[in-house]
This record gives sequence, C-alpha cells and structure tokens, in this order.
Amino acid sequence: MSSPQDARSFKRVILKLSGEALREPGSKDNISPEIVERVAKEIKLALDTGVEIGVVCGGGNFWRGASASARGMDRATADYVGMLATVMNALALQSALEAEGVKCVVQSAIEMKNVAEPFIRRKANRHLSNNFVVIFAAGTGSPFFSTDTTAALRASEMGADAIMKATMVDGVYDSDPKKNPEAVRYETVTFHNCLAENLKVMDSTAFTLCMDNDIPIIVFDIGGCGNITSALSGDDIGTIIHKG
Ligand code: UDP
Repeated sequence: MSSPQDARSFKRVILKLSGEALREPGSKDNISPEIVERVAKEIKLALDTGVEIGVVCGGGNFWRGASASARGMDRATADYVGMLATVMNALALQSALEAEGVKCVVQSAIEMKNVAEPFIRRKANRHLSNNFVVIFAAGTGSPFFSTDTTAALRASEMGADAIMKATMVDGVYDSDPKKNPEAVRYETVTFHNCLAENLKVMDSTAFTLCMDNDIPIIVFDIGGCGNITSALSGDDIGTIIHKG
C-alpha cells in the first residue's frame, strides 16, 4: 500500500488510540466510560465494513514515562508504569466492545495471564483473520518506546495495510492550527515532505518504521461521528501520509 487512492481497499488496519482520546476533555477523570462506549460503537461500525482491526491503546491519559522521568523518576521504571496504564485502557475498551457484541481479545506485551493473553504474533494473526478485534496492550513491552512505535511495529508484523492514528486533531497542518488560524490541513502528504517540512506526525522511531515498511498513516479526529469508517473509505477527513 503506498498511495492514498488505495484507501478503500484496506483489508487490515491498526487503529492507534491515544489515551487522551478516551478522556472527557477538561475532566479530571482519566477515562470516560461514555467515551469508551462511543469509541467501541465507532469500531463496530468500521468492522461491519469488513476490515480487520487491531487496536493499540496509548496510556497518556494516566501516565507518561517521559514526564515522570523529568520529575526525577528513573525512566525505565516510569515507562513500565506507562505500559501498565495502556492495559487499563485496553481492558476498558475490550469490555465496551464486548457489550456491542464484538469479538475481542486483549494481548499484552507484558505477561498478565489473569486479564490478557500474552502477545503471540501468529495467534494475533489468527484472531484478526477470524474477525476478532485484537487490542495490543502494554506497548512493545520495552521502555524508551511509545505506543505510536508499538502501532508501527504491530502494523509491520501483522501485515496491516495502514495505521489509523486517531487523535484529537483532524489531520496534519502546515503549521500549528492552535497558533495560526490560517493553517492549512494536508489531505495527503508524503513521508518525504513530512520530514522536509518538519511536520510532527509521530515520534521519529514510529515514523521511520512506517516509512521503511511503506505503511500509510491516516491521521484523523476520533471525535466526529463515523470518522473511523469515513477515514477508511477514503472520505476527505484527516490526512494520509504515504510513500508517494
Ligand atoms: N511506553 C513504553 N514502551 C512502549 C509503549 C509505551 O515505555 O513500547 C510507555 C511510555 O512511558 C509512554 C506510556 O507508556 O509514555 C504511554 O504511552 P504513550 O505515551 O505512547 O500513550 P499515548 O500518548 O498514545 O496516550
């Protein structure tokens, strides 16, 4: 997959959900069960179009290793706490998906037998082929990485056609839309142009993995109704980053 025109033919995708996407904006609660339920309904709508979906949950609504480390904590330990935070989000999403009647498995990169299967690539592949949603929890299982990198890694090893990066922003802009009201959203942009123009899409490890493995990234706003399905079907929402 390398061009935006291919968007309608995705067979398997990895949906990257930032932790913040599960929090009510402005709320002191880390996670909103109502928002998780809404996201689950969105995923079900997308599944009904026939695409296979793996989900990578972030954990930033609870904890970020780099922030804790900047405040004096040992970085590796702080990152393990962050990875455990992603498991909370994964379990909440699994519960909401099952309430919608969606078959769903959580696989954790840090073994946690009581609540999740361990991450086993071949098993995850089988689950996806059988139309289960597989939620990949606990990041890569290693500190010093992000869940964006996890999404790039899982997309590469699971043979996904694209990463759907669901955020609170509706795409990639030529400048910061919060600071510049004239900022223009890209409908499509190449990996090369992102680098040349220093556009922030993902951290550099995640971005490089996607670029090297020719995995398009679709950045879109998870807030809009039906947006996962719209982004999958090639509607003009968000931004597609591709090889060109
Ligand atoms: N994390 C990690 N290794 C990984 C993935 C995540 O150490 O492979 C930790 C890291 O501390 C990170 C936290 O988990 O800050 C939560 O993930 P992330 O910041 O990517 O979540 P998001 O911003 O997507 O909510």
